[in-house]
Amino acid sequence: MQKLLKNAVITLGTCALLAGGSVAAMASGHGGGHGDGHATSNATPNSTIKKVIEGNDAFKHSHDRSHFEPFQTGQVPNLTVITCADSRVHTQLFGFEADNNIFIIRNVGNQIENSEGSVDYGIYHLPTKVLMIMGHSSCGAVKAAMGDYSGESTGIIAELDTLKPVMDMDDGEGPFNDRWAKNVERNVDLQVAHALELYKDKVEAGELAVVGAVYDFNDLWGKGRGSLVVVNINGENNVNKIMNHPVLNELSRAEVVTHVGSRTK
Ligand SMILES: [Zn+2]
Repeated sequence: MQKLLKNAVITLGTCALLAGGSVAAMASGHGGGHGDGHATSNATPNSTIKKVIEGNDAFKHSHDRSHFEPFQTGQVPNLTVITCADSRVHTQLFGFEADNNIFIIRNVGNQIENSEGSVDYGIYHLPTKVLMIMGHSSCGAVKAAMGDYSGESTGIIAELDTLKPVMDMDDGEGPFNDRWAKNVERNVDLQVAHALELYKDKVEAGELAVVGAVYDFNDLWGKGRGSLVVVNINGENNVNKIMNHPVLNELSRAEVVTHVGSRTK
């Protein structure tokens, strides 16, 4: 129980980074961080664990044996997803039951480099035919990587250093929030490029599609709050070319137009 409590405290303690605050943000005057205008939860570890246990009980009681029957001896997910640990990013957006359908990997900044073995498992062993890399609007990891994060913990520094190629693409011109959103999209492009290095043979054989997307709860991509915006398919990030990509050929033209976008092109 003590270990559980410790983990809960650590989780609560990292919320500033995940929600957009950071030492970098504080130092550069863009707000955020503990005690600097960022809302933090008042929940205690004890009340949080009680809610988790009782919530799981409610889930268990509302799902009979038949729910668990299909995956007693193995999983058959359709999708490997790597997305950010940010609590505002949810998986209900995919429209189907998460259990046994989504092999999901989460870390700060939705990065393959920090979870390569887990992604390999989804692609080589399950294997799913789609790898979705999903960034999101207002990503705190991207924001932190844009500033001075040298005061962060060793672990956080290591997982922000891997975003340096994104920062190299940022010329520093224009409003901060515009650069931030563009860097979120550049990070998705970077992760897709990394996936193509790892799984090139599968993509070329038509056994895998790598889809880069942004979950946009701020409506920064102009498709409405809560939209899933496709920004890259198998390395193609030109909007017009994505719209005509064969991977999307079961969507209607209206669906394609409202779900493909870019802030960088
Ligand atoms: Zn994030």
